[in-house]
Amino acid sequence: MEVKAYQCKHCGEIYKTNAKASKCEISCEEQRVEQERQKILQKEMQELVHYVRLNAQSVEDVCRMSEEVSKKLFGKYYIKKLILNVGYREHASNTHSAPIGMKSNFIASKNPDLPTGYPALTGEITIVYNKEPKGFSDEHFNRYNGIAGINTGSGGYRSSKEGYTCSYGVTLWLDDFPKIKENIEKVFLENNKFEEQQKQIVQEYEKELKKSTYIDGLDFDIKKLTKEVEELNARLQTVRQAKNDAIKEISTPFKEKIENLHTKTENGFRVSRPHKAL
Ligand SMILES: [Zn+2]
Repeated sequence: MEVKAYQCKHCGEIYKTNAKASKCEISCEEQRVEQERQKILQKEMQELVHYVRLNAQSVEDVCRMSEEVSKKLFGKYYIKKLILNVGYREHASNTHSAPIGMKSNFIASKNPDLPTGYPALTGEITIVYNKEPKGFSDEHFNRYNGIAGINTGSGGYRSSKEGYTCSYGVTLWLDDFPKIKENIEKVFLENNKFEEQQKQIVQEYEKELKKSTYIDGLDFDIKKLTKEVEELNARLQTVRQAKNDAIKEISTPFKEKIENLHTKTENGFRVSRPHKAL
């Protein structure tokens, strides 16, 4: 006797009737499409999670991009306004967070081999939501389904005058923001180069100056050289100031805005004082 069997071309399951096999094929195909859809959604989500930190060139970008991304990422509780008042720190504490892929060090005395800090922008973050969000800031700022790279610390609810306003201490590890890191390093590098050149010129003049003192009748030259050395030192000061201004521009564009917000704060909420920018 001839036995006929029908196989689902997707999962290989064997059926007695063609109808059942066809049904399985449709269901298998639907499953595949759904899995594909989930995979794409997951990938898009991950791209959104890391979009801000990988693309921001400045702190101003971090604020603007976070607002944009929050509408896609959080849905109902999006960020109306995000304000960062941060300054550069070469060795920010890693007790509560660390750059992605690096280790935090909660109790340094217990982990003498781990680093105790990394370069970061630290200070205060103020978030104005369109309405009261569910959960804590960790749900909106994390590397799984929030905005990655923004590490919030202590703080909390402040006011509901412009929406729902919270503020927290914040750490942005430079390693998590490669373009901001590059910009800050560029400023450092150019400044160091210039400072080094100026120092060398000053040293040369000083050498000449020393030689000159052994020769009589060169008072005029000495005075002239001394004046030039002073001028170069003054220029060096200007360069140092320019470096500080450049870093400030990268890291703290919203100082005034945040000060305005402070004056609107309702009484009774403890707010950590923002770090002084460089
Ligand atoms: Zn099947």
